[in-house]
Amino acid sequence: MKIDHRTVGVFEENCYLLADEQAGRGVLIDPGDEAEQLVAMVRAANVTLDAIWLTHAHIDHMGGIVGVRRVWDVPVLLHPRDLPYYRELSARSAQMYGIDFEQPEGPDAELSDGQELSCGDLRFTVMHVPGHAPGLVAFNGHGVSFGGDLLFAGSIGRTDLPLGNPAEMNASLERFVSELPAETVVYPGHGPRTTLERERRTNPFLTGAVRPLRR
Ligand SMILES: [Zn+2]
Ligand SMILES: [Zn+2]
Repeated sequence: MKIDHRTVGVFEENCYLLADEQAGRGVLIDPGDEAEQLVAMVRAANVTLDAIWLTHAHIDHMGGIVGVRRVWDVPVLLHPRDLPYYRELSARSAQMYGIDFEQPEGPDAELSDGQELSCGDLRFTVMHVPGHAPGLVAFNGHGVSFGGDLLFAGSIGRTDLPLGNPAEMNASLERFVSELPAETVVYPGHGPRTTLERERRTNPFLTGAVRPLRR
């Protein structure tokens, strides 16, 4: 398994390439912007791109879809609860922030909790962990988790955006932390990677030092 990434766009979002090098297959997780950089990353890995997996459809996680699909016409997978973002709200955010944005077609397939996804011979399980966004999912497998904006090193995703939900966020964090092994390496949507063990010990939102989220 190979994991590469580029940090793209004004929101400094991490787009990940997950690849099974033996099988020569790869998927892009959250192509947020600067598609030409992402295309170069895939080419450098020398894999065939099979799909785009979205953790959620905020503008900073989907702004590069059209550019990538101009090169490889691959399906976009998204949880249906994030369709409002995919189809309308992200375009509106782009306008608000003055970001160039091309509205993609699709998505092409629905993600659901517990679903198994393949990347070559790699198997990842979808975990629906809403709160930051209603359709936010984590892709878990092989000791790693791509959790989008659920959990960051030392922080968590905000819940004050439209369709955010603090109560769902609390439940999702509890589930994420209790169901995944402590040694899981978390690849977040922003900032450096971390481990669940480190976040349990030091993240103020998980240790109880900060309790900004009302139940
Ligand atoms: Zn987000
Ligand atoms: Zn984000």
